[in-house]
Amino acid sequence: MSLKSFQLSEPVYQYLLEHSIRESAEGVGLREKTLGMEGGNMQISPEQGQFMALLVELMGATRAVEVGTFTGYSALMVAQALPPEGRLVACDVSLEWTEVGRPFWRAAGVEHKIDLRLGPAVETLDGLLEDGQAESFDFAFIDADKVNYSAYYERCLALLRPGGVVLIDNVLWSGSVADPAVDDPDTEAIRTLNRHIRADMRVSVSMLPVGDGLTLARKR
Ligand code: CA
Repeated sequence: MSLKSFQLSEPVYQYLLEHSIRESAEGVGLREKTLGMEGGNMQISPEQGQFMALLVELMGATRAVEVGTFTGYSALMVAQALPPEGRLVACDVSLEWTEVGRPFWRAAGVEHKIDLRLGPAVETLDGLLEDGQAESFDFAFIDADKVNYSAYYERCLALLRPGGVVLIDNVLWSGSVADPAVDDPDTEAIRTLNRHIRADMRVSVSMLPVGDGLTLARKR
């Protein structure tokens, strides 16, 4: 779950939201609609979405890729931050979920920036690489099934240009990663990737306690 930065007390979290969040009407609408759905707590938090948008702006990113679109809130945040010619390749397996976001993408005037690819993301990412798009992306966001996290990371890293950034969500997994009693496949997959990235000298890295834990890695 990534609904909020879980380690903050409720009053401090509310203060953070009230003193930083500038959500578009479409952002509010999509987030609230998703919250009412089953699985709605898989959606990223507004402070995380705004952080991602700021990163896109800071980098001057024009080409972005996302693994795990869900109902499309993060895609909306990134697409709104991209310049008019910017494009986001959005990967998900669910037409039902992604169709929740589409009316909000359209209302925000960014639907044309979002290239939704339905299907297993490993296949979509491999297709981009086979299509000669290695080292052509500025920004990548990974927030999908955890057992494939390492596969997504390697492919996103190959797609990024030097200096490009990959964000990985749920790296603290509500604290489970630090609990030796937890050994389910999702938690183990996140631990494996966390260990790998710390030792991976192809990237500079920072693990941030934003949302449910967000790793930011810059390709060297
Ligand atoms: Ca997540």
